[in-house]
Amino acid sequence: MTPLREVPPVHRFTTDPSVARYDALLGHSVVRSQVQAVLDEMRASLRAGSTSQLSLDDLRRAMLARLAAAQAAGLVRVINGTGVLLHTNFGRAPLAPAALAAASQLGAGYTNLEYDLVAGKRGSRYERVSAQLCELSGAQATFVVNNCAAAVLLVLDTFARDREVVVSRGQLIEIGGGFRLPDVLRKSGAKLVEVGTTNKTYALDYRNAWTPQTALFMRTHPSNYRVEGFTAEVDAATLAALAKELSVISFEDLGSGALVDLTPFGLPHEPTLREQIGAGLDLVAISGDKLLGGPQCGVIAGRADLLDTIKRNPLLRALRVDKTTLAALSATLALYLEPDKLEEIPLFAMLKATVSELRARAERIREAIENGPKGPLLQVRVCDTESTTGGGTLPLHCIPSAGIAIGARELKPDGLAEYLRRGSPAIVGRVEETELCIDLRTVQPGEDQELILALTRFSQH
Ligand SMILES: *Cc1c(COP(=O)(O)O)cnc(C)c1O
Repeated sequence: MTPLREVPPVHRFTTDPSVARYDALLGHSVVRSQVQAVLDEMRASLRAGSTSQLSLDDLRRAMLARLAAAQAAGLVRVINGTGVLLHTNFGRAPLAPAALAAASQLGAGYTNLEYDLVAGKRGSRYERVSAQLCELSGAQATFVVNNCAAAVLLVLDTFARDREVVVSRGQLIEIGGGFRLPDVLRKSGAKLVEVGTTNKTYALDYRNAWTPQTALFMRTHPSNYRVEGFTAEVDAATLAALAKELSVISFEDLGSGALVDLTPFGLPHEPTLREQIGAGLDLVAISGDKLLGGPQCGVIAGRADLLDTIKRNPLLRALRVDKTTLAALSATLALYLEPDKLEEIPLFAMLKATVSELRARAERIREAIENGPKGPLLQVRVCDTESTTGGGTLPLHCIPSAGIAIGARELKPDGLAEYLRRGSPAIVGRVEETELCIDLRTVQPGEDQELILALTRFSQH
């Protein structure tokens, strides 16, 4: 039995390099308290009469497990090997270097966020980004809020409070995270008027639903599901024309919000913001961190007079974005305005990568691991996979891709997956039968080396 007085002191561990490594990540006092907690547990179990012999190594292992868990509970960098390009759990779109530089430069000091430098007086934080969005979409005016959900809420709250909103039964969506259109409508004080059926809605259904209380004809883009087969929807142009005729506002929650045609990237056609504005819709809402490839935010685009009304809604104050978001969004939009720079946006670089490029990367990773120390502990092979855009965009569409499939001797793929998830950076893949699959389309090219390092370290642990 280990006598109580032989429980080692805290500094014995906090000076150990494998533990001290966490100082930079968590702060020394957090590390110290985690180490202390393991030692306290040991003392408690000795007092309770435990006879187990715990070596220094056992203790260190317990501490490292706690520290890794503490680290994983905070925001850490993740290497995304799932092949889901806009994974909502992983923060959707990675930002372009130019967007990060802008956010860092403007976030570090003061900016003219709400100051007109020429006139020397108060200005608007949205002016520059708004001009870029108008140019890219053809809209008269635009406005940026916290996310697309906020954009929808703001439009409904501004125009439909105590009035009626007509929506097709085929478009009464739940986006995920509990954002269900009927609930949002109720919250904003609007009355939902459902028309049509799940599979078929006609223009006449909207016309018949019109009353003097109608504020909006609303469309939602089925960004995360498909209604296929015997179906009919009212297209944006038809709905916009009907709304105009009946003097109500036409509004589309476009969600995924592509700004450019995605077919050159091998994706199915997605309606762009410009197309929907061009179809005559009065207002369109999109998300900033889906197919736009920018920071989390939402954009409302459309008629200038309606945007002016929205800007007077007191709710706006609670939904506005900060300077770093605006800086990142504006820098991302600047890349759209110079078409040869589009692939500086990581989303487009990931889409553009060919299967043979990905296979070549996979082959290099396989070789490095095979030639590494004790390589045979892991079996790595190059495999074909399928990526998806994810994040509630382009449902059911698969993008051919390639990656590595890893089998570990003496360990189930779930165990290997857990080991990699606990690393720094964390690595997340997909378990497929007996292997862990890492799709390289969503692994940034600069991360291949870290992947090799983590897998080599696994062979040695
Ligand atoms: C994703 C999505 C939203 C929500 O967007 P956030 O930016 O995540 O708030 C709203 N509507 C549709 C149609 C969507 O696809």
